[in-house]
Amino acid sequence: MAKYTAKFSCGHAETVDLVGPEKDRTRKLAWMEQKTCGACNKAAKAAKVAEAVEAVGDAPALEGSEKQIAWATKIRAEIIADLRAQRAAIATIALKVAGNAQAEAGIAAAYAAIDAAGAKTSAAWWIDNRTAGRAAAAALTEDVGAKALITRTIKA
Ligand SMILES: [Zn+2]
Repeated sequence: MAKYTAKFSCGHAETVDLVGPEKDRTRKLAWMEQKTCGACNKAAKAAKVAEAVEAVGDAPALEGSEKQIAWATKIRAEIIADLRAQRAAIATIALKVAGNAQAEAGIAAAYAAIDAAGAKTSAAWWIDNRTAGRAAAAALTEDVGAKALITRTIKA
């Protein structure tokens, strides 16, 4: 293990420990030159969260302890952004399945599930469901089957 000064595309430098063959270390340093540093990555992530929090400014107030609310506000912002993307994807699907009653019912259920999630005001609920919510917006809703139904119906 040896210490190297890694230069990043953002203009910052960090001291890093690298191990392994010399060519791998050189390659790693070259790769880091294309990336931004840890501090810039962290700042970019914080800015993204702040932007998402602002975007859901109209969401209902959360209930819980101060700490829970602070954490859940970030989680909700990220998940709501996902849900909005999901809604756009569902709208595209809806055009393809127009006239198929089963698919339309599934889509209506998916929309209802998205709205239900958006209306949740328990900070604990958002915290408990963060992993599922990030993995698949549909999975955090009470109607987990809606998305599966749409997918299945389209394949059928
Ligand atoms: Zn930087």
